[in-house]
Amino acid sequence: MDQPVLRFAPSPTGYLHIGGLRTALFNYLYARHHGGTFTLRIEDTDRTRYVEGALENLIDILKWSGLDYDEGPKMTAGGEVVEEGGRGPYIQSDRVKEGIYDRYINQLLEEGKAYYCFCSRERIDRVREAQKEAGETPRYDGHCRKYSLEEAREKVAAGEDYVVRLKLPENQDITFHDAIKGDITINTDEMDDQVLIKSDGFPTYHFAVVVDDHLMGVTHVVRGEEWISSTPKHVFLYRSLGWKAPEYVHLPTVLGNDHKKLSKRQGDVAVEQFRDKGYLPEALINYIALLGWSPKSNQEVLSMEELIKEFDFDRISNTGAIFDTKKLNWFNQEYIKKMSSEDLIDRVGQSLKKAGLVDETTDPEKIALTAETYGNRIEYFDQVPEMTRHLFCSTEEVIYEEDAVEAIRSESGKIVLPLFEDKVCQASSFDRDFAGSLVKSIQKETGIKGKDLWWPVRASVVGSTSGPDFTNTLLILGKKEVLGRLERAKTL
Ligand code: GLU
Repeated sequence: MDQPVLRFAPSPTGYLHIGGLRTALFNYLYARHHGGTFTLRIEDTDRTRYVEGALENLIDILKWSGLDYDEGPKMTAGGEVVEEGGRGPYIQSDRVKEGIYDRYINQLLEEGKAYYCFCSRERIDRVREAQKEAGETPRYDGHCRKYSLEEAREKVAAGEDYVVRLKLPENQDITFHDAIKGDITINTDEMDDQVLIKSDGFPTYHFAVVVDDHLMGVTHVVRGEEWISSTPKHVFLYRSLGWKAPEYVHLPTVLGNDHKKLSKRQGDVAVEQFRDKGYLPEALINYIALLGWSPKSNQEVLSMEELIKEFDFDRISNTGAIFDTKKLNWFNQEYIKKMSSEDLIDRVGQSLKKAGLVDETTDPEKIALTAETYGNRIEYFDQVPEMTRHLFCSTEEVIYEEDAVEAIRSESGKIVLPLFEDKVCQASSFDRDFAGSLVKSIQKETGIKGKDLWWPVRASVVGSTSGPDFTNTLLILGKKEVLGRLERAKTL
C-alpha cells in the first residue's frame, strides 16, 4: 500500500466534542500505524457558524490530547497560526480566497455536470410543501436545469442571486464500499441536486470536502457514521470530476448512557471540560480509543504507542459505543496511580491553587502530604479541593457534621479530647513520630479505643468522623491549626 494520507476535518464550533476527538484519534492511529500522514483541515465555509477564537482553541486541545499532526495550521509560541505542510492552505476560507473551488465548479459547469439555480427560497419551500402533500420525498425539482450555460451566465452577470447545483442523472445506482458497513447502494432518484456553491459564493461542505480530500491526496476518509448518507453525493462528485474516490470508514456513533447520541444534555461532552476538570490526556485517549474499537488482547490500559501498534480498521465495531463517565473515571484513576510523585504533587498543588485553597506562601510539605494522602482516592484533579477543603479552610470555616458534634459531646469525647489537646500543646516537635503515636498514646492512657476514641478525635479537627490517614491529616493541619480547632470543638 502507498503511504496513506488521513485527515481530521472539523468545523471550528468553539469546542471539540468527545466524538470528534474519537474521529481525530482513529485517523491519527491509522496514519501512525501505517507510517502515513495525518492532516488537520479546518472546514469553516459555513460563515453563519463562525466562532471567534475557535481555531486557536481547537489547535490547543489537539495538542493537549497528544494528537500531533504532520500537516495543517499550527500555533507558534507567540499564539500566531501558521501552516505546516505542502498541500495547504489547510483552512477552507483561505482556499476560497485562492479560487480553488472556482476552478472546479467551472469545470463542472462547463461539462454540464452542474448548473446555476436562481430559484427563490419561497419557490423551493412551495415545491417541497407540494411534494410532501403528494407523499413524495421533498427535493429540488430541477426547475433551473432548463437554462443553457450562456443564459445562466447572463443572469449572473445581471446580478441575479444564484446557487450552483450538482446535476444528478435519473435513476442511477451509486454504490460505494465502507470498510465497516460493507457495500452501500443509493439510487439518484432518492437524492437531491446538491447545492455546491451557496448564495454567499462559498462552497458547501459537500463540494469543498471532495475537492480538498482529492487535492490533499487523502486516501482514507474516517469520520462519524452520520456522514454516511452524504457519501453517495461525494462519490458521484468524484466521478463527475474524473477523480478516484478514497476509502471510506464510517465510525459507530458515540452514545450517552441513555443510548442516544452523546449530547450536551447528558453532561460534559467537550474535551475542554474534561481537561479543565483535571483529567489526564493519556487516560482520556486510552478510554476514547475503546469507543467502538477493541485490541486483540483483553488489555484495557494501553499507552499511545501500544494503541498505534494495535490499531487497525478491522476491529472497529458496527454498533454504537457508549461513553460512560464512570468508566473514564476508572481509567483516569489508573493513570493517576501511575504518576510519579513529583508530577502528582505538582498537579495536586495546581488544583488546590486553582480553587484558592493554597498560595505561594503555603508550605510545600503540606501539598506533598495532601498528594500522598489523596492521590489514590481521586478520579480526577478537581476532586482534590472538593475532598480537602476542610484541611485548608480557616478554623471558623470547618463544617462539623451532626455525628461529629455527637462524638465530640459524647462521654468518651469528654475524656479523650482534653488529653488530646494537652499532648498537642506540650509537643516539642509536631512531626511524623509524634503525630503517628498520638492517638495510640491516648488509648494507652485512657483505655478507650475504637469508635469511642477515633470518632471524637477525628471529628474535633476535621468536622467528620471518617477520613483518610490521620497522621497525615494532623501534619497537614499543623500544631497551631489543630489547637485552634480543638478550641472551636469545645464550643459546639
Ligand atoms: N467538517 C465535517 C465535520 O464537522 C467533517 C466531516 C468529514 O470528515 O467529512 O464533522
